[in-house]
This record gives sequence, C-alpha cells and structure tokens, in this order.
Amino acid sequence: MARGRAVEAPYARLEQLEPAIARVLAHNASAFTYFGTQTYLIGTSELAVIDPGPDLPEHLDALEQAIGGRNVVAIMCTHTHRDHSPAARPLAERTGAPIVSCAPLALETVGPRADASFDGDYAPDRVLQDQETIEVDGVPVTAVATPGHTSNHLCFAYGDALFTGDHVMGWSTTVVVPPDGDMAAYMASLEKLRRRDDRIYYPAHGPPVDNPQQYVRQLVGHRMQRERQILSLVKEQTRPIPDIVANAYPGLDPRLVTAAGGSVLAHLLDLERRGLVEREGDAWTAA
Ligand SMILES: [Zn+2]
Repeated sequence: MARGRAVEAPYARLEQLEPAIARVLAHNASAFTYFGTQTYLIGTSELAVIDPGPDLPEHLDALEQAIGGRNVVAIMCTHTHRDHSPAARPLAERTGAPIVSCAPLALETVGPRADASFDGDYAPDRVLQDQETIEVDGVPVTAVATPGHTSNHLCFAYGDALFTGDHVMGWSTTVVVPPDGDMAAYMASLEKLRRRDDRIYYPAHGPPVDNPQQYVRQLVGHRMQRERQILSLVKEQTRPIPDIVANAYPGLDPRLVTAAGGSVLAHLLDLERRGLVEREGDAWTAA
C-alpha cells in the first residue's frame, strides 16, 4: 500500500462521480481496505446509500451533510465485514431510512466460525434476495447475490453500473477465507458477473473498474493460476499451509500472511472437494 499518498485521500468529502452516483471515503485505511471504505450515494431527489462503512462520527457527519435532508429510501450493505456495515444503524437513526440489505450471518461467538472481522450487531430491516429490487427516483436497484468473499455478499446493479463491494475490487484481489469464505462459490460468482454486461464497477475499495469483462476474466485467470501453483507444490511434496504460502507468495507483506494462508486453505478445501488433494494432519498432499 502506498502510505505516502494516503494524506491526499479525500476523506469525509462528497465526490460526484456521475450525475446520480457520488462517493464519500471513510477514514479507515488499512492493509485490507486500501485508503478506506467508499460509501456510495445513488439517486438525485432521493437516495440509497451503499456500504455505509465503519461507525466513525466524522464519516457519519460527512454522509449526513452529503444527504442534505433528502429522503434516503434504503441503506444497503454488500456484506457485514466491520469496514462495511457498522454505520448502517447509526445512519438509519440519523436519517429515518430502513436498512434494506444483505442477510445477517449466523456466526458463532466461539469455535471455527467465530470471526472478529464480522459485524455481529448488524440487524437489517429487510433482507434482499438475489434479483430483488428497490427503486430510487423510479430507477431499480437490483441485488445480485455473489457469495464467496462472504456467504452473504451482494452486489447492487443500478442502470449499467454495478456496485461490487469486496467481490471485485479495484486495487487488490479479494480475500477468500474459510469457513465463511468459499473459493468455489467465489469463482461461480465471478462467472455470474462475466455473463453480465455492466459498463462500470464501483468497488468498496480502490478505483472504479471501467473494463469489467476483461477485468473479471483476468481475476478468473489469476485464481486458476494460483490453484495450479498450489496443486503443483503439493504434488512435489506434502506441505503445511505456511510452507505453501512461502512458496506461492514470495515477498508478501507480512501483514497479509494470515490472509494468504486463508486463501490457500480456501483453494485446498475446493481441491479436496474435487478429489484432487488430501489432508495428512496439518499438511496437504496430492490425491
Ligand atoms: Zn469484506
């Protein structure tokens, strides 16, 4: 991440991207969020808010100012990681808007499905299923179910723009970490986007993607290459995950080693389901 440029990031400022699409960047930069979470406002006379972001007073103040008293028909979250949904309820209280959004996740507070990166307080007023729509200024906003990064992930289609959350990002490949993250689901969700003809993607992190078809093809190719690499490493010899990470991600930022291990596990679980690898204790080997 280019830390030196972070000071130039337009935190708490409304940026108009298209006549009916604007963005406010939240001040939560990290190794996983790039410069921070981008909250999108869509509509003109009325609005929907996509990915309200972290519960930061500065960000909520900026959103309230950007909304400027207009009617907010829906607060929509692509998923419930802590950098996306915690501002939903406070923004609902400030604006009177309902949270019309992805499903909550039933995560255990202990055990293998416990995950501190999830917003356990998230409580939508209405859950959108795949292809369900709401209207903003009479224009439909359609939920596109895209599980993989998380099991509850939705993209939102508005005209020929697609708000892709963390499913497709403009700055980095997406983290897919079990048990909630699922590589086979993620690949199927990429294929789902490949069959669409969106003009532009607006991700929650990083710049817009103005060549969606080509970009998604590259992402699919990258994952398939990663899978072949993991498979060839475990064909060479039985290996534990840290050994696979060290070989597959040379020079990796140390802050991302855990996430890379999660992605490798996601690939291995997918390969195991397909009968191509087996587990021997903590190590993996070709079947
Ligand atoms: Zn996420």
